[in-house]
Amino acid sequence: MNIILASAEISPFAKSGGLADITSYLPREWERLGQNTIALLPKYRFIDTNYWGFKPTNLILFVPMSHWIEFARLWEGKLPNSNVPVFLIENNDYFDRNGIYGEPDEYPDNYRRFIFFSRAVMESAKALNFRPNILHAHDFHTAFTMAFLKSQYALDPIFQKTAGVYTIHNLAYQGIYDPKKVMELSTFGMEQFYPGSWFEHNGAVNFMKLGIMFADKITTVSPNYAKEIRYSYYGEGLHDYINLRAADLVGILNGVYYNEWAPEIDSYIFTKYSTNNFNEGKRYNKYQLLKSFGLTDEDNLDQPLIGMVTRLVEQKGIDLIQYKLEYFLQNQIFRFILLGSGESRYEDYFRYLQWKYPKLALVHIGYSNERSHQIIAGSDYTLLPSRFEPCGLTQMYSLRYGTIPIVRLTGGFVDTVEEYNPNTGSGTGFTFYQYNADDMAFAIQRALSIYQNEPHWSLIRKNAMSKDFSAQKTAMDYLKVFQWALEKVNG
Ligand code: ADP
Repeated sequence: MNIILASAEISPFAKSGGLADITSYLPREWERLGQNTIALLPKYRFIDTNYWGFKPTNLILFVPMSHWIEFARLWEGKLPNSNVPVFLIENNDYFDRNGIYGEPDEYPDNYRRFIFFSRAVMESAKALNFRPNILHAHDFHTAFTMAFLKSQYALDPIFQKTAGVYTIHNLAYQGIYDPKKVMELSTFGMEQFYPGSWFEHNGAVNFMKLGIMFADKITTVSPNYAKEIRYSYYGEGLHDYINLRAADLVGILNGVYYNEWAPEIDSYIFTKYSTNNFNEGKRYNKYQLLKSFGLTDEDNLDQPLIGMVTRLVEQKGIDLIQYKLEYFLQNQIFRFILLGSGESRYEDYFRYLQWKYPKLALVHIGYSNERSHQIIAGSDYTLLPSRFEPCGLTQMYSLRYGTIPIVRLTGGFVDTVEEYNPNTGSGTGFTFYQYNADDMAFAIQRALSIYQNEPHWSLIRKNAMSKDFSAQKTAMDYLKVFQWALEKVNG
């Protein structure tokens, strides 16, 4: 199968969240399964083309925008540890900037940047003479490719046998813009914008909606989230369209790329370990992690350690933590460690905590891949009280490292974390359902009650480490959906 994967984020070149991880391992797994994929990404300023071995090609794209043509150059490289070609789309007006989406506020011309990128994706296939069976778009940034495929490129020989598959990683980010700005620019024209048209939602252009409506098949990143978004509570205002397309929607659980996220082979962590020696391995990682935050042997390093690695946004349930964490810290019930960045109100709150509890609240505001591995390996627990969570990767990484997740039962957490049952010894974590700080606190207390309480503490960690959410299965599930999409398009 020939596959084009187009995304605003692909790890390790450009990452702000889980999207980048998925778009990076899918093509590599598909390659192993004999598929022929090319991945397309904007050439952002911060991508170190020398380091990653990208070279400019002679291919110049002529990208129709409104009534004129804009230009882009393709750069070619590969996904690390693979032969999957990655093409960066260079246009310095749009992408020669420090951020993916903003710095940190959204760039005001994001609609234009991503319409351009989407259109350039279509033109790249033509320039490369690459006839895709599948055009795979991810989130609202590349949603317009689904519309182009069915309209401007419907009769183009390159796309004659192409099915469009649209993956929703997070329904909350929709790309809502003024039709006067978007419709002409995207070459659809204002006449295609009217109440009830596929471009329109609540009087504005909604990129997410048009992705959902134009795609042949739609996927989202966990089976449970696929169910949740059919209801208004999780549907972010788009549940009617989700229901309209429900027969073409599938939830595929994101997987973990265990070549990068496994304690046996992880070179970021302080010592490698496996199920055979996780007790010592985790203890040493915790010890070194705490030392790297300036703690010493006098600081009771055996206290339970609860970690978080997260974007600091409302979705992640930070307000529950604000409500309850100090109670635990004041009573010295556990130590807390956080790596995160995002909204300044949350960043400031964690800086305050660190100032007030320098030995108990360890805070790193920023983004660090290395630190994220070290925190996931060195913590005893990971706390994930999200309001909603399309899939979530951190809980799956944590499980593999024997770090026990404490999660709110929402989205992908329902598919991946099972409450520990001390009577049967089954289960991998601790859960709560209501979005409520006291329920979270109760789950934390249950979790702490088995800390150093053998055999439970060893049992749950073994259960956790033996869970397998491999990316290979995820990649195969996508191929089944692709097959299904092709049947729809080509009969
Ligand atoms: P989301 O995509 O909503 O941010 P996920 O759990 O799906 O949530 O994915 C988050 C990914 O981003 C994980 O790989 C996590 O380790 C990583 N991550 C989040 N914040 C940071 C940070 N500050 N530094 C390093 N990695 C981070």
